[in-house]
Amino acid sequence: MPPELTRRRLLALSAGTLLASPALKPVFAAAAGKPKVIVVGAGVAGLSAARTLTRHGIEVIVVEARDRIGGRISTDRSLGTAVERGASWLHGLNGNPLAGLVRDQKLATYFSDYDDYEVWLPGGERPEDWELEDAIDAFDSVLEKAADEADEGSDLSLLEAIDQLDPGMLKDPLSGWMLSSEIEDDGGAPLSRISALQYGEDRSFDGPEALLPDGFGRVVEGLARGLDIRLGEPVRRISHGAGQVVVETAKERHSGTHVISTLPLGVLKAGHVVFDPPLPESHAGAIASLGFGAVTKVSVKFDRCFWPEETQFLSYAAKERGRWPTMINLMPVSGASILTLVSTGDYALKSEAMSEAELQADISAVLGEMFGADARPPQKIVAAQWSRDPFALGVYSYPAVGNTPADFDGLAEPVADRLFLAGEHTIFEHHGTAHGAFISGERAAGKLIAALGG
Ligand SMILES: Cc1cc2nc3c(=O)[nH]c(=O)nc-3n(C[C@H](O)[C@H](O)[C@H](O)COP(=O)(O)OP(=O)(O)OC[C@H]3O[C@@H](n4cnc5c(N)ncnc54)[C@H](O)[C@@H]3O)c2cc1C
Repeated sequence: MPPELTRRRLLALSAGTLLASPALKPVFAAAAGKPKVIVVGAGVAGLSAARTLTRHGIEVIVVEARDRIGGRISTDRSLGTAVERGASWLHGLNGNPLAGLVRDQKLATYFSDYDDYEVWLPGGERPEDWELEDAIDAFDSVLEKAADEADEGSDLSLLEAIDQLDPGMLKDPLSGWMLSSEIEDDGGAPLSRISALQYGEDRSFDGPEALLPDGFGRVVEGLARGLDIRLGEPVRRISHGAGQVVVETAKERHSGTHVISTLPLGVLKAGHVVFDPPLPESHAGAIASLGFGAVTKVSVKFDRCFWPEETQFLSYAAKERGRWPTMINLMPVSGASILTLVSTGDYALKSEAMSEAELQADISAVLGEMFGADARPPQKIVAAQWSRDPFALGVYSYPAVGNTPADFDGLAEPVADRLFLAGEHTIFEHHGTAHGAFISGERAAGKLIAALGG
């Protein structure tokens, strides 16, 4: 049966494909006083914006601080196989605009089954099926009621809402595992910071959740093809006015007619890039109030597999919420003896502060609890500590207590039809995702083209 073509899917499809169509007429190629756009940031949002503009015949350069493209999509190959430091999944292939890039490049996919997991309790005990079912039921029930505990005038954090509804959940390791692996991982923040009112109000695409065994980085490589990208140039200042924009880096002053900034929310919050004139108050207020959190992702290579080889996810219900609740088994994905571990919530900040040796010791202690004497010592690790990365300063945006969808979407409002903001933090419906970043880039390019009268 063909998938149901709902309005939601139609909207998603149009957002993902109309502007991206290579068949579009280059409307500005022959125009006098041609526009020139400076795109700041070569993550998915910047690349999708640049690609769309280029396809419309508009001159574009992309200025990127790092010596690589992709931003928070970052595949590492130093363990002998692709592991992800940032994004791993294409969340739902149906209507997902990134699915087209995967198909065009004939990239292999591996479909994750989130029901294929095994759980270990502190000390290595295994829960009975009925205990697990009870915990899942309690979790579903609390999540369903959490938004009702808050209202428009007095939002609550998820922690406060859960404490009011079922305080026992906050002390139970099994429930803690669910809260951390389902909510704190997805939100990129502790329960104490996430809005009970807005959590889960964003949209998702249907269809399989796909990993890319050869690396998510291949998607951005495809997206970047043919673009003029200047690497290794951290932007310090973005000025605009009187028909001109100037983007200053340590090396260069790039002049153009328009600028699209895809600086991550963490970088905007830190104020490391000066906007001249300053961003409007509505933008500045949203930047200050929106949440931007932490999740620590560590891939660990072992000499051999000592865990259930075929199980996709190993789950650890720690005493301390967020301590490595999720482990992705790369054995079925790429045949490698590698686990990618994720820590969340308050524990993510703790683990972000750990040295490599401390991380190894912490992870070894957890695996020792789970597998006893069978656990092997890590051979090599790849750790991503995004909060300490100066060109991200966090993982992804989330609705903090008191935020509304308009705080995200308002950031996409053009400033004087000259400065346009894009990035995952500018699109509530798909915030915190790679496809959201992609759609936001196309949308910013579309607004710029509209401002040019195209
Ligand atoms: C650990 C983790 C796991 C994730 N998992 C998933 C997942 O499974 N699926 C999913 O869909 N999404 C996931 N995401 C989210 C996804 O990666 C992001 O939403 C998306 O990549 C953001 O793209 P962007 O273009 O908005 O920002 P970025 O990718 O951050 O791009 C912004 C660019 O700006 C550059 N920059 C910063 N400062 C400057 C400066 N001063 N001058 C010039 N350039 C600068 C940065 O280097 C970067 O390249 C995950 C993210 C993380 C961190």
